[in-house]
Amino acid sequence: MNIQLAKIYEALEKAKKLDKVLIQEIITKGKEKKGLTLQESAYLLNLQDPALLQHLYDTAAKVKEEIYGKRIVLFAPLYTSNYCINNCLYCGFRQANESLPRRRLSLPEVQQEAKFLAQEGHRRLLLVTGEALPDAEAEGIASIVESVYKAVDIRRININCAPLSVEGFRILKEAQIGTYQLFQETYHPRQYEYLHPSGPKKDYSYRLTAMNRAIEAGLDDVGLGVLFGLYDYSFEVLALLEHARLLDEQYKVGPHTISVPRIKKAPGMALTAIPAPVDDETFKKIIAILRLAVPYTGIILSTRESATLRTDLLHLGVSQLSAGSSTQPGGYAPLSKESLETTSAPLEGQFCLEDHRPLQEVLCSIMEEGFIPSFCTACYRNERTGEAFMELAKSGIIHKLCSPNALLTLEEYLIDYGNEKSRKLGQQLIKQEIEKLPASQATTLKKNLSELQSGKRDLFI
Ligand code: SAM
Ligand code: SF4
Repeated sequence: MNIQLAKIYEALEKAKKLDKVLIQEIITKGKEKKGLTLQESAYLLNLQDPALLQHLYDTAAKVKEEIYGKRIVLFAPLYTSNYCINNCLYCGFRQANESLPRRRLSLPEVQQEAKFLAQEGHRRLLLVTGEALPDAEAEGIASIVESVYKAVDIRRININCAPLSVEGFRILKEAQIGTYQLFQETYHPRQYEYLHPSGPKKDYSYRLTAMNRAIEAGLDDVGLGVLFGLYDYSFEVLALLEHARLLDEQYKVGPHTISVPRIKKAPGMALTAIPAPVDDETFKKIIAILRLAVPYTGIILSTRESATLRTDLLHLGVSQLSAGSSTQPGGYAPLSKESLETTSAPLEGQFCLEDHRPLQEVLCSIMEEGFIPSFCTACYRNERTGEAFMELAKSGIIHKLCSPNALLTLEEYLIDYGNEKSRKLGQQLIKQEIEKLPASQATTLKKNLSELQSGKRDLFI
């Protein structure tokens, strides 16, 4: 795995010459849902013209709707430890930050956090950890995953942890994790070196090749990402797309998701200024371009962004949102007596969040925007992952499964956790969506919905 920097610079240089006709043609090609080349994406990244930008946004919205329908998948991160042996200059968890009280959750504490999230209505979690032993060891992560699946009604656990060996990834695969997620942070080798002065994360190549090892270990749902703000965004987007293309070329399966974190102030971070800030308008453009460049890849947006911007971005290509999040270990459930005795200072999160709304509020705002909140985990539990998932997605068959499944998980949420407002919005939405389904599917769905009403749970197609 080697990203050719010269190829990226060449594409960026060539794209400096703005050709409106060519831009129109690229956007029209984007509509076909076949993706874009590196050079085409470079042209779009250079785009500033308001009318053409609007055309790009409208097209991204259309492509998103054709592929994903109205569904927005919801999840919450669960931080298991803030110990770390790395010194990433942008992160509050870095080892040299001596003012951060450290905490590692025990298995019962992780279960308690997961139970709290499940009682809020979450069914998908993203386990996040710093890089320190034993937190970054596959065996430890696997036992956390297995214990949560066993004790709590959580149906999919994705992981964001330091890169592992093939053997380590095999252990995660056996524990039945969902997606393995890892962000390259910056694809620019020199900037990477500067930002990661010590610890195992210093090794750019070991991180870049993590997905190769994960896929070789049988984990075919992998998630890429860049931490926007660390280096020039145009370079980063092209490098990210090149990474995705190389994985697709080698394994016939590209990334399942792309995350688009933007750097936020973090208590105890070493950076005094953001190296290459990305403003909201540019951020919107990045998301719309990703939607056209890799149309079948999910785009994940976290609570690092404000509620207003998150709502706007739903229309431009985002397909998954975290909600009701905390970025500190033990940040959800009230502290146990034991932890109260060992924790002297209040814990801080990894970075500052902008969207503090509880899950139910996010869910209502998604419905008010005309989207369907989904807690569905059916694909992964029916082994529709990797290449199998992409085939279903590209042929459009996935639509027939996803919409009813999203509605079933929404109905389950409304029965168990809904309030007056969400129930009203949800029932109306479910009714409308049933009417759009072919008759046979509508009949099956109505039957399943009434089974949920009579107490059955976890129904999916
Ligand atoms: N420790 C592992 C690692 O670094 O890959 C996994 C978890 S780390 C807690 C998750 C992600 O948080 C990092 O990949 C980084 O992109 C992001 N992050 C770190 N500092 C941040 C900041 N100040 N603002 C926003 N995101 C940040
Ligand atoms: Fe540690 Fe990850 Fe933070 Fe770097 S980003 S200091 S590896 S937790």
